[in-house]
Amino acid sequence: MNSDSFNVENLINIGYLLSACLFILGLKRLARPKTAVEGNRLASIGMLFAVIVTLADRQILDLRLVGIALAIGAAIGAVLASRIAMTGMPQLVALFNGFGGLASLLVGTATVLMALDLKVTDVDDAMFVDKTFLALGALTLVIGAITFSGSVVAFAKLQELMGDRGLAGLRSFALASTTAIVATSLVLVLSPSPVWLWLVVAASLLTGVFVVTPIGGADMPVVIALLNSFSGLAASAAGFVLLNPLLIIAGALVGASGLLLTQIMCKAMNRSLPNVLFGSMASGGVVADADDVYGGRITSTSADEVAMIIDSAQRVVIVPGYGMAVAQAQFAVRDLMRSLEARGAEVVFAIHPVAGRMPGHMNVLLAEAEIGYDQLIEMDQINPTFERTDAAIIIGANDVVNPDARENPQSPIAGMPILDVDYATTVVVIKRSLSPGFAGIPNPLFAADNTLMLFGDGKAAVEDISKALAEV
Ligand code: NDP
Repeated sequence: MNSDSFNVENLINIGYLLSACLFILGLKRLARPKTAVEGNRLASIGMLFAVIVTLADRQILDLRLVGIALAIGAAIGAVLASRIAMTGMPQLVALFNGFGGLASLLVGTATVLMALDLKVTDVDDAMFVDKTFLALGALTLVIGAITFSGSVVAFAKLQELMGDRGLAGLRSFALASTTAIVATSLVLVLSPSPVWLWLVVAASLLTGVFVVTPIGGADMPVVIALLNSFSGLAASAAGFVLLNPLLIIAGALVGASGLLLTQIMCKAMNRSLPNVLFGSMASGGVVADADDVYGGRITSTSADEVAMIIDSAQRVVIVPGYGMAVAQAQFAVRDLMRSLEARGAEVVFAIHPVAGRMPGHMNVLLAEAEIGYDQLIEMDQINPTFERTDAAIIIGANDVVNPDARENPQSPIAGMPILDVDYATTVVVIKRSLSPGFAGIPNPLFAADNTLMLFGDGKAAVEDISKALAEV
């Protein structure tokens, strides 16, 4: 090795190290809403850097094709990201995971094909007949294929292109196709042939479909976090196949963070992962009858009455939920917050970790309306303050404020941590009807003595309150 190649190799390794550091710093900064935008930027720079270093490492110096691919990818990414509605974000993440899985599927398949010496002839044969290498290729394509087909199904469910009913039977097929993956992969490695390769691909694609299809559409965000973790594992496996240390690191980071996110979501819903994958939300516990819970106990209110109550409030806590995202009420909520602050009230937002349909859903919406991060208070910090809160205004939240989770051990959501809004002096709930939330169970909060129900669309109702407040 001459000193020039030594220097180039060193530079490339330093480049890989720098990219890995940018990924880790980016990930760390993504953990806080305040630093998330910067974290995203750092990680994107890390990725661009990683692409450049990899091209230099592999001596891919004819950049015409790479340039075209980068331009097409960037254009698709920019159009998708700018067009997607906030409520459609989980679908977009599902698609991105799917693309990651597809890339690993292609890398794994190409590797096995090379090992079978079908596609490429000018490779180092000794390297490709290695059984370990073949097994790694097979592992990459298996994880990639499951991630790809599972993510496509998750996308279709969230986009409501597919329903949930009558699909539970597919679970038994999942067991059969998983067994088929193990059997065909073993044969492929021990006695390599293209037929076994395509059988492994088919069994893996079917497993993704069979596992994800029976899971309820509303559980998809947890599944998406899990598939995200899978796409990281697939990338890591591809890193071993391609002997690229950065891909191994980046894949491991995605794999670990996806798994942690899955765990956080399950914990915040007080459910286990097997329950999400193989059960249903209300499968345990006793679901109370809505008539028994609400019968004759609901107090409706009007925007004028709410305005009068909050006009004199010193501390108001706004609790956003999935309905705020549906109503796109975040800008109206910000205007209400400003009117209240102008009257001298302290206004903060209570953020439940699984409010909405994806982690950070409420943070993103409120940030879109330029509501300061300092005003978003997490569940553990805000809960002890409800007792000294004059008014809690709940906009489209339901399960995350259901006191049954705390009080009723028979409830399907018993033990799920909730926002203790019922301890506030007055609770105003804005929603269109008494329909249940995601968990499909009644909420005794709506029938509590200190609760007033303001029925209507979240955005319209908040705008009406602001108008009425201006006239008080
Ligand atoms: P919920 O799903 O419990 O309730 C949302 C409420 O919003 C509904 O009761 C609905 O009532 C109301 N709503 C819908 N549209 C509007 C509208 N236009 N205007 C006003 N209200 C509206 O939401 P939460 O945020 O309280 O709870 C989230 C749930 O999702 C939890 O059960 C959580 O476990 C689950 N989940 C969350 C995930 C996450 O990562 N965030 C992931 C997976 C599941 P109505 O129809 O009467 O208006």
